[in-house]
Amino acid sequence: MMDAVNLLGFDLQGLAAYCEQLGEKRFRATQLFRWIHQKGAADFAQMSDLAKSLRDKLAGRAHITALPVISEHVSADGTIKWLFDVGQGNAVEAVYIPEDDRATLCISSQAGCAVGCRFCSTGHQGFSRNLETWEIIAQLWYAEHSLRQRLNTDERVISNVVMMGMGEPLQNYGALVPALRMMLDDHGYGLSRRRVTVSTSGVVPMIDRLRDDAPVALAVSLHAPNDPLRDQLVPLNRKYPIAELLDSCNRYLERAPRDFITFEYCMLDEVNDTPELARELIALLKGKVSCKINLIPFNPFPASGLKRSSNERVKAFADLLIQAGIITTVRKTRGDDIDAACGQLAGEVQDRTRVHLRMVRAPVVVQRGAASPSTPREGAAPASTANPPGPRP
Ligand code: SAH
Ligand code: SF4
Repeated sequence: MMDAVNLLGFDLQGLAAYCEQLGEKRFRATQLFRWIHQKGAADFAQMSDLAKSLRDKLAGRAHITALPVISEHVSADGTIKWLFDVGQGNAVEAVYIPEDDRATLCISSQAGCAVGCRFCSTGHQGFSRNLETWEIIAQLWYAEHSLRQRLNTDERVISNVVMMGMGEPLQNYGALVPALRMMLDDHGYGLSRRRVTVSTSGVVPMIDRLRDDAPVALAVSLHAPNDPLRDQLVPLNRKYPIAELLDSCNRYLERAPRDFITFEYCMLDEVNDTPELARELIALLKGKVSCKINLIPFNPFPASGLKRSSNERVKAFADLLIQAGIITTVRKTRGDDIDAACGQLAGEVQDRTRVHLRMVRAPVVVQRGAASPSTPREGAAPASTANPPGPRP
């Protein structure tokens, strides 16, 4: 199979160009694409409506190969977590979350992550490499078709995809966009734009590009209402501070499939969960960006040195936002028993950037009565200098 190309890496346009190179009509690509993504076929011999000559041609030059599965864990609540081998000692995870009215697959975009958020175990592992398009889509391809077999159905199983696994999707933009197109394509997974969500820590220029290239639902990991605190929690904030981020959210809303942006806010005990910070968050967002807030209970891991906010503190924080008229939800934790919850995706990665060494265990400095959104940037807390931003996107 030397130099044979994995067809999982082509969106429909790419596959059409590939078929043309083989001297085939472009419409053949549509048939092939449907076999691969709608039927889960991995063997050209199965593709009965393709000319035998084309099947023979493909058999010598191309293949359809999923990522090797290292492990599968099934939670008591039905959540399934797969660990996939992406080579050279790296692994990434995907999580299937069935609910009454939908079934969501959470997938990874990178082996590790260079952003280095303090509360995220992927961030603590450092960055190894970007996944290729085929490695992103292979997670969906495998999950969808193995679940259909398991559930003994020909119907679509996965109704929603969220790019909330390992990695910062907007720092792997070139590979992400064709993968999104395959999810949206009626000949592929046929998901509507509102059922595909890209979650980002705030790579502003790429939010603008996504708006033009594939405007799916957008979730922005905010976690703090002011720059000094966000600088510490999400180091990328030093490059793209909150005001710029919110401006890009408003530009995104012009094309977004929903009329709101989801802001994710991971609740860290005594760090970002005080009533003062809730009020600051209201002042920051109310009437400025059409949004919903999703409060995420922090999933602790020892190296973080951080604690989950109590249910009472989460509720008090949520109540303030709700009273101010901001739609607020608290995320249910799923798959806790198999470590499949947010930020617990612990696929091993070989850190090529040594982020974890830079992430010295400086405590997050809690700024009481902190900083209004207009506080000058020089006001950043000292811990921030110990944790420089990750590589540029
Ligand atoms: N890099 C992207 C997408 C992957 S992270 C981003 O940051 O948005 C997906 C979500 O999980 C983000 O909202 C992130 O803030 C959250 N998260 C990370 N670590 C977490 C943890 N330990 N507990 C709870 N949520 C966490
Ligand atoms: Fe990367 Fe997202 Fe984790 Fe931050 S929260 S380190 S951006 S994966």
